[in-house]
Amino acid sequence: MKQKILSSRRSLILDPIHPTDYLHLNVTFACEQCSHFAPEEKTCTIGYQAHHHLMNNQVKLYERTGRVAFCRFLEID
Ligand code: SF4
Repeated sequence: MKQKILSSRRSLILDPIHPTDYLHLNVTFACEQCSHFAPEEKTCTIGYQAHHHLMNNQVKLYERTGRVAFCRFLEID
């Protein structure tokens, strides 16, 4: 009997942003706005995968889906 192997990887949670808020508020949603971001290497200094939360990727995602992948560990000074 085959056993199903459960993956420990979770999919990204995408949250909607109302278009008016996106256009008129300075919504913080990208690594480039975060205290933990190392801009030279484009990496996260606390070890998370920055790829999904980089500004360029977030903007592309928003334009396709109306949602962004907020990082739960994003911090601003
Ligand atoms: S904590 Fe999250 S938002 Fe901040 S740099 Fe790391 S991955 Fe990006």
